[in-house]
Amino acid sequence: MNFCSLSSGSSGNCYYLGNESHGILIDAGISATTIRKFLKDMGISINSIMGILVTHKHSDHVRGLEGISRKHNIPIFTTQKIRKSILSPKSKLSRTCIHDITLQNEFQLAGFTIEAFPVHHDAPETIGFHISNGYNKITIVTDLGHICETAAAYIKAANLLVIESNYDEQMLVNGKYPYFLKTRVKSDHGHLGNHQTSAFLAENISDNLTHICLAHLSKNNNTPEIALQALQQAFLEKGIAQNNHLHISVLKRNGPSDVIRLTR
Ligand SMILES: [Zn+2]
Ligand SMILES: [Zn+2]
Repeated sequence: MNFCSLSSGSSGNCYYLGNESHGILIDAGISATTIRKFLKDMGISINSIMGILVTHKHSDHVRGLEGISRKHNIPIFTTQKIRKSILSPKSKLSRTCIHDITLQNEFQLAGFTIEAFPVHHDAPETIGFHISNGYNKITIVTDLGHICETAAAYIKAANLLVIESNYDEQMLVNGKYPYFLKTRVKSDHGHLGNHQTSAFLAENISDNLTHICLAHLSKNNNTPEIALQALQQAFLEKGIAQNNHLHISVLKRNGPSDVIRLTR
């Protein structure tokens, strides 16, 4: 199982997960041209992409969706509610290229078993994904204001966890965002701050977790160094050893991150 983030952040999200022969994308929030280029640079043919999973309607997750899906006939998988929210009157996506999935109900795609679960965020519906190849399990949660019990169970079950660490609390409070936006970001339906993510992980880390990828960093209210430091500090305070068993990385905002290869 190979995982790579093509872009992660409030300007655009797109993640690749593949095996020897096929792959899927999770969100398409960067242009179709850029997605094609990044995949090509990694030696991955766009024709090997069997589907695109969509987490919610925000443009940083669907900007390139129509282009890439229509041009290459790639089916889209999301809930009925999210489908309705992304099919605007202007959209050229047809209903038939979007497959409705139901929450917490497994389905198969490209050799993976996939389950969508609900998270709290300010869109008509937002979901995270838990994906398994029978040996390794990856959970992707990029936009959520807080971690509810349902999401927590999927996060705890992962070997590879892609989780939002959106903002540094001080940078947000002291930053230039208008008051309403600061309130929105911090709310239970906004985004996870560094300390929320770090505290949850320090409290709930288990032996099966081998990779943590901090995702969806804010351009204005965070830096990779500060996000990483918050997590390391939380682990230190809980006496959690940071050794070779656990790989922590921060996903790049504007380009592909290193490919993570999970073997059995
Ligand atoms: Zn987002
Ligand atoms: Zn969002």
